[in-house]
Amino acid sequence: MTISAFYQIFGQVVLIAGILLLILLSVTLILGRILIEKDRLVFPKLLLFTMDVFYGLFKKFSESVGVNAKIVDNIGVEVRNKVNEKHFKKIDPQDTILVLPHCLRHLECEAKLETSGLVCKNCKRCVIGVLKDKGEKMGFQVFIIPGSTFLKKIVEQNKFKAVIGVACFQDLNLAMMNLSNFPCQGVPLLRDGCVNTKVDTRAVLEKMGVKLKEGKKLTPDNSCNPEPNRRIL
Ligand code: SF4
Repeated sequence: MTISAFYQIFGQVVLIAGILLLILLSVTLILGRILIEKDRLVFPKLLLFTMDVFYGLFKKFSESVGVNAKIVDNIGVEVRNKVNEKHFKKIDPQDTILVLPHCLRHLECEAKLETSGLVCKNCKRCVIGVLKDKGEKMGFQVFIIPGSTFLKKIVEQNKFKAVIGVACFQDLNLAMMNLSNFPCQGVPLLRDGCVNTKVDTRAVLEKMGVKLKEGKKLTPDNSCNPEPNRRIL
């Protein structure tokens, strides 16, 4: 084979691979939107494959076709929640860890940060205290952490079989990706950021297996209490 013939074949292989990749990313994006908008999970293994192997590329592709790259993490969390749901429900709270982000804490929180995370004093000024209290009563081990370094330590130092996590879409998707050996359930933050974030408390309690009455409000806005001295629940 001559060198020019080799380059010709090589070029064709690269072109075909590129076209296949574009088809894969397009199909994943379409299936992901169906999952998010219609709650229908189609070809979950394909979605997970694209997410795990082409995560960064998939984000760039989404942006290039005018779709906010956040959708990639949204799809990742949704698909993992659905795929893991059945297995997760078979595991007892005693074997499950609940991981909350410290950015949910009240702005005047007095809890100290230690090696295992934030040591919540359960003053109930914010939703962390409520979830921690309820979670511990049910048997969950509850951790309130500032970032993925703490999560790594928690995984290394504790025995558990399942995880419920709360975080922004990107952190949640990446954490669920890294913890793919465990049946994880994730609840994305409604408002992310470094402080004063917000979560749907009902959604977290439902993941914990708490049966809630329709329409019952747990906090004024299911998030951190904006009033410094007002306690919730
Ligand atoms: S309930 Fe919220 S504000 Fe109170 S100590 Fe715990 S994390 Fe801090």
